[in-house]
Amino acid sequence: MYNEPIFLEPEFKERIWGGTKLKEIFNYDIPSQETGECWGISGHANGPNRIKNGPLAGKTLGEAWEQHRELFSNEEGEEFPLLVKILDSKKDLSVQVHPDDQYARDVENETYGKTECWYVIDCEEGSEIIFGHHAKGKEELTSMVQNGQWDKLLRKIPVKPGDFFYVPSGTIHAIGEGIQILETQQSSDITYRVYDYDRVGQDGQKRELHLDHSLNVTTVPHEDPLLKREASAIDGLRYEKLVEEDYFTVFLWELEGRSKEITLQRYRLMSVLDGRGRITIDGVDYSFKKGDHFIVPSTVQSYTVTGKAKIITSHSNKA
Ligand code: ZN
Repeated sequence: MYNEPIFLEPEFKERIWGGTKLKEIFNYDIPSQETGECWGISGHANGPNRIKNGPLAGKTLGEAWEQHRELFSNEEGEEFPLLVKILDSKKDLSVQVHPDDQYARDVENETYGKTECWYVIDCEEGSEIIFGHHAKGKEELTSMVQNGQWDKLLRKIPVKPGDFFYVPSGTIHAIGEGIQILETQQSSDITYRVYDYDRVGQDGQKRELHLDHSLNVTTVPHEDPLLKREASAIDGLRYEKLVEEDYFTVFLWELEGRSKEITLQRYRLMSVLDGRGRITIDGVDYSFKKGDHFIVPSTVQSYTVTGKAKIITSHSNKA
């Protein structure tokens, strides 16, 4: 029986808005000074992680999902459902919106749409995100987009470290400059770009916009999701539920000491944002440190975690 954590080799993505914080904060071996994304837990074909340890070492997470569904609570689904990334925005990201599952299947022939959520790891003072819009109806949205009335349309919100945002598909959004987030999302890479600040890339070209798709999928009027963060503590572990929604449940764990025995029957995704520690399964220790991403498979009956660390952990809510 598979009785150990599955550690993953991160994948990096260079982006025109990326920077160097993924190295500065997490000591990752980044490919360039414009590294925007670390895909920490991914079975997606555009950036699958390789397994670092154990009987499945060298295989991708996607292969493990296909061949060993018993590790993943025998959950149904063609593809591994979630994707966990860390983003560093040296510059503003484009203003964008994602489709839901139905639109992704019907129009893009992809498995999943994209609902996502963000935990703000760090940011510069005065940082902002775009979250939602001010149009009252579809007509107003369409005319504001077509006339480029971005200041009137886009809703800006200030952010600070520790903030959390739930971003359902259909929400217009953008991460502003100077922000590092951990994103937990459906495993999808479909993005419709609404506005890109009229920037040109190294090739002198503007990046393509997708206005028709954007207008088709944007929720009007914008509705703010009601989030209720709930914190509890047992022994050495303070845990705070950040969101529990259709696709995923996400927690912030703050470990200080030794947890009691944890017996969650679902497989669990873990990303270590700070500190170090160890997970103990049947008396065997596996150490982890800041920047590590791993999965505790559902074949593990129980485990403890020990150390001083901050971890974002999540599980899928699909049957
Ligand atoms: Zn997005």
